[in-house]
This record gives sequence, C-alpha cells and structure tokens, in this order.
Amino acid sequence: MIAFKHINAASTHDALSALSRYGEGARVLAGGQDLLFRIKKYIVQPQCVVNLKTIPGMNTIRSKPDENLRIGALTTLSALARSVELQQNYAVLAEAAGVVASPQIRNLGTLGGNICQDVWCWYLQDGFSCWKSGGKFCDLAAGDSRYYGSVMGGHLCLSNHPSDTAVALAALDARVHIVSPKGGREISISDFLCGHNWVGGRLQSHTLGLDEIVTEIEVPFRPTHSAYVKFALRKSWDFAIASVAVSAVIRERVCDDVRIVLGGVATFPYRSHEAEKLLRNREIDAASAGAAAETALQNAKPLKMNGYKVELSKTLVQRALLSLSD
Ligand SMILES: Cc1cc2nc3c(=O)[nH]c(=O)nc-3n(C[C@H](O)[C@H](O)[C@H](O)COP(=O)(O)OP(=O)(O)OC[C@H]3O[C@@H](n4cnc5c(N)ncnc54)[C@H](O)[C@@H]3O)c2cc1C
Repeated sequence: MIAFKHINAASTHDALSALSRYGEGARVLAGGQDLLFRIKKYIVQPQCVVNLKTIPGMNTIRSKPDENLRIGALTTLSALARSVELQQNYAVLAEAAGVVASPQIRNLGTLGGNICQDVWCWYLQDGFSCWKSGGKFCDLAAGDSRYYGSVMGGHLCLSNHPSDTAVALAALDARVHIVSPKGGREISISDFLCGHNWVGGRLQSHTLGLDEIVTEIEVPFRPTHSAYVKFALRKSWDFAIASVAVSAVIRERVCDDVRIVLGGVATFPYRSHEAEKLLRNREIDAASAGAAAETALQNAKPLKMNGYKVELSKTLVQRALLSLSD
C-alpha cells in the first residue's frame, strides 16, 4: 500500500479546500469499496484522500408529498434498499440498490460512490496498458470481452459502466447536485454519466471535475410503476452482465411516459428512446414488450465474445416491462 495523507473533512467547504490544495493528487473517499481497491492495485496513487463520511447531514433521504425526492450522496445502498418511501414510489431504485454486490458492500457503499465508480474491467485491474491507465489501447476490442465489454459500440475504453443504481436513476430522470469552489451546479444523470470524459489527463466515465463533489441526487416527483431486473453470473454478489430499468405511468393498462434504460451494455446507462416511443399509448403485453426489446437492441454491435448479451438484454427488457403490468 502506498502512503497518503488522510483528511477527515468536517464540511463540504473543508473537503473542497483540500481538493484545491492537492489538485490532481487528491481523491475523495466515501464508502471506499472502489477507491481503496484501486489504491491497493496501484491503479490510482493519491497523495491525499479526503474522507467525506465525517461531513454531517449528507446521508439522508428527504421526501415530502408531491415534492422531489432528495438523497444525500453519502446515503448507503442498504439504506436505499430498506427505504419504505423508495419501495413504494421509486421501486426501481430500491430494487437496484438492493442487488448491488453483497450486504457488506451495500452497508458501506454509498449512492455517490456507486455512480462515480470507475469501470471494473479485468485488463485495467491486472495492470494492462489501456486508455484508463495512460495507454492508447483497449484490449476488450480484440480480447476477452465476455463480461465487461460494451455491446453498443463506442471508442476508446469499451468497458461497460458498472453501476446498478445509475441505470435506475436514469429511468427516473434523476439530477446530480455538485459543488466546487466556484459554486454549485446540477446536471441530469444521463449528462453526468456521458461515458468518456478527459479530466486532467484521466479518462473518466463522468463529467466530474477534479475539484468537485457530488452532494445530492434529486429524483423528480412522478408517480410511476417501475422495476429493475439484473442478470449476474453469481446471484449473491456480482456486477450486472446486463440489466434493465423501466418506469412508466400506466393508466387503465395503457402505458405513457415510459423510460427504458439498459445496464451492462454500454459505457453509460443506455436509454432507448426508440423503444420508449414504440410503447407510447400502448398496452404492455407480450407482443409490445417483445417489439420494444427488439427495438432497444437494434443498434447493438457486440464485440467478439459478448454477442450473447444482446439476446440476454432483450429478455430482460421484456421481463422488466411485463412486470409493470402484473
Ligand atoms: C466485489 C464487488 C462487487 C461489486 N458489485 C457491484 C454490483 O453488483 N453493482 C454495482 O453497482 N457496484 C458493484 N460494486 C461496486 C461497489 O458497489 C461500488 O464500488 C460502491 O457502491 C462504491 O461506493 P463507495 O461509497 O464505497 O465509493 P468509494 O470507493 O468511496 O468511491 C468510488 C469513487 O467515487 C468517488 N466518489 C465517492 N463519493 C463521491 C462524491 N460524493 N463526490 C465525488 N466523488 C465521489 C471516489 O473518489 C471514487 O473515485 C462491487 C464492488 C465490489 C468490490
């Protein structure tokens, strides 16, 4: 393990001044499930780690009738999965949080950390030179892409985005609140997780600057039926090989305002506007769900070893949609 300075931030202001002081040498720590693993693997070698868990009030779920839901970035995945408010009104998020990894990881892992985590591609973890480690190559293109490879095409790093909750948040039109020394900003989760973004010479999945911290995730109040389905190799704790989040307003069995977002297939949560359009003002049944599934995957360009994800994802789209009409 490398040596680094550890700062317990007392406030976001405190954390931001540490980030400004150490610049590229600083990293933010929440539950540490992702960051500490990467430090141990020498993938990142910070001079300073800024612990956010000592900041009071960043781990709450706030909801009022008819108002947007606000979730502090330090809220644990267990707390999200257990929340009765989420289970009743934002089921897709409670379900996604509840199937992340193992109970131990969910007890420590936070929502902020889960959406900001980097890819878990085995080439990166095992020290291969790649776009994420300063190289100019992605081994997934011609190598073993069975589990981590995108099937929706792309360039640079081809590893799929690993977060379960990000897929659910995209189906809920969530917004990410961010602070930096320059002030605050908010951005939709889809723009936040753009797939590829160069910051300070690093290729990231998100648009967070080096001096920025996610403080809160806001979910619009929109009474919907929603669901998350995930396929993983090991059911007890594993990343999604493929997953699907859906939400829809359903009136008299007819579907409106539907969102269909796929996980495990792209470098970002992949929303299929075409499949959504197809379902507008239609009843969800086997035929319409099947057509939506075909449409959602119509642009798939799998890599050498992950073509099976296309059929798998189609099945998950159908299952997720049909679960809404149960
Ligand atoms: C064995 C294993 C299995 C896993 N399985 C799954 C799975 O099935 N599904 C899934 O989604 N994930 C999975 N993960 C990933 C895990 O859930 C995430 O690593 C965890 O949620 C990250 O949360 P954390 O709070 O521990 O983040 P940390 O490790 O503390 O941080 C992760 C990253 O986000 C940054 N960060 C954290 N919080 C903030 C913030 N508020 N503002 C700005 N930057 C921030 C950190 O600097 C770091 O880069 C797995 C991990 C392991 C080890």
